[in-house]
Amino acid sequence: PAALLAALDRDHVRDCRKCKLCEKRNNTVFGVGNAAARLVFVGEGPGFEEDRQGIPFVGPAGQLLTRMIGAMGLAREDVYICNIVKCRPPQNRAPLPAEVEACIPFLVRQAEIIAPKVIVCLGSVATQNLLGTAEKITRLRGKFTSWRGIPVMPTYHPAFLLRNPNMKKPVWEDIQQVMALL
Ligand code: SF4
Repeated sequence: PAALLAALDRDHVRDCRKCKLCEKRNNTVFGVGNAAARLVFVGEGPGFEEDRQGIPFVGPAGQLLTRMIGAMGLAREDVYICNIVKCRPPQNRAPLPAEVEACIPFLVRQAEIIAPKVIVCLGSVATQNLLGTAEKITRLRGKFTSWRGIPVMPTYHPAFLLRNPNMKKPVWEDIQQVMALL
């Protein structure tokens, strides 16, 4: 699977110009981690640091995600981390429907190659775009749903947790459900 992921990145994503997000990006941010991971985290899109480094979840929110993964008894290398869109939306706005539509086939292919046991979807934008729903994250989180036959646990985004540390408890409850499933 690692070779298939690398080929997808190299041949299709790195020079992709399928949507306007290509215009302002410095780097595409394909995804990182174990190509045979049982657990995949999906966020909405790269931010400033991610665009600069070409690696997902490396800013402050990413550091919190890394700590969450550690609290699960895992390392970043054990899981796979990626986003709905592979290029940074300007000013970190949410990706537009056309941008998601253009980019999500890459995520579908990543999921096919990795074939994880479970996906944790981080935040409302990622969850709504992955599941194709307008339902609020407050209602979606904490309950398993399914995407392409893969169980999905929506939970709050680590950036939201940095602003609202009191929400770490419900997220940890969601994560414990994921660990139980694994
Ligand atoms: Fe291509 Fe996705 Fe980047 Fe748009 S966001 S240019 S579809 S890689």
